[in-house]
Amino acid sequence: MPDLTMTIDGRAVAAEATFGVVNPATGEVAERAPDATRAQLDAAMAAAAAALPGWRADEGARRKTLLAAADVLFARAEEIGRVLTLEQGKPLAEATGEVVGAGIWLKYFAELELPREVIQDDERAFVEVVRRPIGVVAAITPWNFPLMLAAWKVAPALLAGNTIVLKPSPYTPLSSLLLGEALRDVLPPGVLNVVTGGDELGAWMTGHPVPRKISFTGSVATGRRVAAAAAPDLKRVTLELGGNDPAILLDDVDPEAVADRLFGAAFANNGQVCAAVKRVYAPAALYDDVVEALAARARAAKVGDGTAEGVQYGPINNRPQFERVGELVAEALAGGARAAAGGGPLDRAGYFFAPTILADVPDGSRIVEEEQFGPALPVIPYRDVDEALARANGTHFGLSGSVWGADADRAAAVADRLECGTAWVNTHLALAPHQPFGGFKWSGLGVENGPWGLYGFTEIQVVHRARG
Ligand code: NAD
Repeated sequence: MPDLTMTIDGRAVAAEATFGVVNPATGEVAERAPDATRAQLDAAMAAAAAALPGWRADEGARRKTLLAAADVLFARAEEIGRVLTLEQGKPLAEATGEVVGAGIWLKYFAELELPREVIQDDERAFVEVVRRPIGVVAAITPWNFPLMLAAWKVAPALLAGNTIVLKPSPYTPLSSLLLGEALRDVLPPGVLNVVTGGDELGAWMTGHPVPRKISFTGSVATGRRVAAAAAPDLKRVTLELGGNDPAILLDDVDPEAVADRLFGAAFANNGQVCAAVKRVYAPAALYDDVVEALAARARAAKVGDGTAEGVQYGPINNRPQFERVGELVAEALAGGARAAAGGGPLDRAGYFFAPTILADVPDGSRIVEEEQFGPALPVIPYRDVDEALARANGTHFGLSGSVWGADADRAAAVADRLECGTAWVNTHLALAPHQPFGGFKWSGLGVENGPWGLYGFTEIQVVHRARG
């Protein structure tokens, strides 16, 4: 692969220093990425600020440009997908699908209305509520879906007339660098700048005087730091943070009938999805059947290098996460839990972990209380629905949740009582560009997607024209 460069003011910017990017399927450094200096970040911020007046002036041009950007992603999906698999680990078809998905998001926002609402039109005044861009946006993304989550920020921010400095995770910088390169000839200089570096680069961005908005996706711990860094300058923030999504199975469910969808929603991207199913609550009478139905699917899952044919699940993305998942599983097993499938790392190079279903997990286990973010799923029995709901809602998280049952109305009535940003019925992880996505409690602040996500990249302005 040729050396990937940062994109600052529409130009390739070479690295003064680099850091290693590990292929999680081997555990070895596969590539190197630029480690941005403070001066390079300043240049990116200055370029974004300089590009603002031109970019915000012409809504029609912005829409056309976003559509052209989507077409570039569609055309180069496989090439960018290969780079994503190399650094992230996910199977190639999913990586390519993520690039296409990012294009779909760009297209959706390119066509979304930016409303001007008339709230008074009489003899005294004509009053409109309009949406203005906020300014320069600092966009910071995690390593699980680097391109999709970048698109969730880039597409609405740019449509609204803002300009951006994007920083991906140091575990997955390459695909975002390639995104910057791919869009260099499509977007005017300075509109989208891509810089890479370690966590401290994120901190420099949130403390930088230029951005007026920080759009952050990542962990709760970092989200707190971002909010604190934004406070002195009253920068606007959107925080998409962790989840510990419960799935509650009701007593009329057929375990075999729902197991494929449930397993898919728990193990998608190897469980490294903020809104994956992270705990299953099953009625005591169905408990053994639910555990076995999920365990059978875990045993059958094909785990391997994401570039190999037929692989469904790649490695865990990085060593600290690989160790954390192993630690949470080992701790549960030591406390008396039973591995109905899997139970530990696979005996091979790279960060491969056996898809794991845990039964009889002791109360208070960290794998239930905390976000595991990996291929290990605890199944917990309950006696009545009130108990299941109390457990489901009884954490600091509130990203999403689901209720499953043959009687969809009854399941929907239970789902109404979930305390989270998205409550699914007989499905989970059904995300779409028009659906606002965000979390209650520690899972976030604000939402992304849909018109509501777009409004998060705007300031409301009242235009009041006096009459008479
Ligand atoms: P992380 O918080 O460690 O890192 C996220 C990003 O923040 C990275 O780019 C990182 O370099 C940067 N960063 C680190 N320290 C920073 C600081 N002090 N200031 C500014 N930026 C800083 O998260 P991660 O491990 O990359 O991602 C996993 C987490 O992301 C999980 O908790 C997951 O649930 C969450 N997530 C949430 C959503 C959502 O939409 N709610 C989506 C995907 C992932």
